[in-house]
Formats: sequence, C-alpha cells, structure tokens
Amino acid sequence: NLQVILKDYVNGFPKESYMLLKTSIIPLKLPQDSNGVLVKNLYLSCDPYLCLLMSKGQVGYLESFTPGSPITGFGVAKVVDSGHSNFKKGDLVWGLTGWEEYTIITTPQTLFKIQDTDVPLSYYTGILGMPGMTAYYGFYEICAPKKGEYVFVSSASGAVGQLVGQFAKLTGCYVVGTAGTNEKVELLKNKFGYDEAFNYKEEQDLDAALKRYFPEGIDIYFENVGGKMLEAVLLNMRVNGRISACGMISQYNLNQEEGVRNLSSIIMKRLHMKGFIVSDHFNLLPKYMEMVIPLIKEGKICYIEDIVEGLESAPAALVGLFSGKNVGKQVVLVARE
Ligand code: NDP
Repeated sequence: NLQVILKDYVNGFPKESYMLLKTSIIPLKLPQDSNGVLVKNLYLSCDPYLCLLMSKGQVGYLESFTPGSPITGFGVAKVVDSGHSNFKKGDLVWGLTGWEEYTIITTPQTLFKIQDTDVPLSYYTGILGMPGMTAYYGFYEICAPKKGEYVFVSSASGAVGQLVGQFAKLTGCYVVGTAGTNEKVELLKNKFGYDEAFNYKEEQDLDAALKRYFPEGIDIYFENVGGKMLEAVLLNMRVNGRISACGMISQYNLNQEEGVRNLSSIIMKRLHMKGFIVSDHFNLLPKYMEMVIPLIKEGKICYIEDIVEGLESAPAALVGLFSGKNVGKQVVLVARE
C-alpha cells in the first residue's frame, strides 16, 4: 500500500521534502467485527488547508497531522469491503480518506455515497464535493447576492473561485476576479464568464486597481487570500456590503503575525463579514446537488481541473497550490476504477 507520509511538522512555507513515499502492508479484507469501510482510493483532493494541518498545533478546528502517518484529506474512492450497513462493496464514495492506495475508514459517517456517476468522478473532489459546497455556501448563504450587485473574487480561477464567479453571473451580478497569472486571467474572462479580471501580481497599487474595476465600490467580496488584498478591498467596499471570509491563503505560512489594516471599514460601512467552515454545512449538500448537477448537464456551468497522475505526484501538487501552479481544481489520480 503506497502512502504519502508527513515526515515532520512544517515550519513556514510547505515543501515537498516534508512528505515522503512509503510502502506498507494492508489486508484487503476487514476483520469480522469491524464497522469501518475499506476503500480503494481513486482521486485525492489537494486543498490549501492540508498544509495548515502539517504544522504543529496550528489549526483551531482540526487536529494537526501526526508525523509518520499518511496525509488525510478529501477524496473519491471505491468500497472494497464494508462492515457498515450504509455501504457495500462496489459503492463509490467521496469524503475523508488517506493519501494512499487503500484506506480503512473507521468513521464512515464522514463518507458520502456517490449517486450520479454520469459526470466525471473527479468532480466529487471539486465542483460536486467540498470546494463546490464552499462556493455555494459562502456565496449564496453568506453573501445573499442580488441581481445587479458588484462582486469581487480573489483566487478566482481556483477550485472554489471559478464557481463563485459563475454563480455570480447566473445571479445577474457584475463580477470581477483576480488571479496570479495572465493565463488564469484569460480563463476568468473567456471560460468562466467573469466581466473583468486582472493579474494581481502585475498591479503596483491594489487599491487603484479595484477603483478601476469598481468605480462605484464592491457589494460582495468572496475572500480567498487575505493580507494586502483584503486591506485594499476593505477600502473599496460599499455601505452594507458583505464579505464571505472563506480563506486567507496568503497568510497561512507566515511565521510572524501580520496585522490587517483598514478593519475599521467594517464598522464605518456596516459591513457583514462572516467566516465559515464548510463542513459545518454539509447538511445543505442535497440542496446544492439539486442545483448544480442540472447546471453541469445543461452546460450552464463548467469546471476546470488540473489532474496529475500517481501518488508520487501528490506532494508537489499540494505544495504547488501555494505558488499558484495549479490551473483550476488540483486533483491527484491515484487509480482508475
Ligand atoms: P485554489 O484552487 O484557488 O488554489 C490556491 C490558489 O491560491 C493558487 O492557485 C494561487 O492562485 C492562490 N495563491 C497562493 N498563494 C497566494 C498568495 N500568497 N496570495 C494570493 N493568492 C495566492 O484553492 P481553493 O479554491 O481550494 O481554496 C481557495 C481558498 O478557500 C483558500 O484560502 C482555502 O483555504 C479556502 N477554503 C476554505 C474553506 C472553508 O470551509 N472556509 C473550504 C475550502 C477552501 P494564483 O495564481 O491566483 O495566485
């Protein structure tokens, strides 16, 4: 059983060398008394939060990984053996699993059975999985968007951002996105339907850039990066604006704390800025599936994935999220069905 193991706690920026590949033996049958599920992993999801969990005691809502153990994260898998009444051999599932070929999942309540199989299975790591729910909850439930509103999305071509932009267009909003390469900016405009897009790395003055695209200000900000971008956005929010505080990737690997200026805008402009953890809201998954699956099938929404093959490619793919190497949702193909 080939595994991706955390070698040691990460300090600062994550590197591939903090992970190693190891082979272990795993019986392909569960013990008689087990109520767990043994799965064969097919796709693994590379998500920025995984690198947070590689640091010692850093994350409030989740336990850090243990050095010497495989990375765990969201993935798509096939049930090989089950001691749990909800699952049987051959079922396709998505949920929390290990970065390895086979995993014994002792808490099968973290798994969702895959019902629709006439869409790419890898979508359950993205648009039909955790990032999709994140875009859905953060945009519709937190921002309560209305037609004609001005929406700004950071990390706009990523797993979450590409969906937020398309949801905003479907709602009739004006939406601008930002990303870190010109290739991604082209995708934002030509593939995901953003009205405008810019490369934040080419802007000397983010405040001026935002004023260029939003002369009347921003109603909704879908926050994925934090730091200087958030500071500039706060200056450009309209009264009664809403900010969905989804992620702050620019802050995840900083050793020293960096304050965010301009927070007083939240008071002066009566802004609503709300943080959330998507897994608290997985009860809305059926509602989201009902909305999004027809949109995919009717071609009203598209989803770009960046799929690398083999567990040995997983560490570089994960670390690449922090330099923007991924174009779209970063997925690792472990095995074909
Ligand atoms: P992405 O697919 O967008 O990948 C990360 C992207 O972040 C990179 O491609 C890069 O794009 C950008 N990036 C990396 N470093 C920086 C930096 N220093 N400054 C600005 N941009 C940077 O990731 P996801 O869509 O999966 O996640 C987006 C955000 O949502 C993350 O912050 C994540 O932690 C958060 N999240 C929160 C959840 C929740 O429950 N609250 C659930 C899921 C995700 P570029 O080339 O544009 O720089």
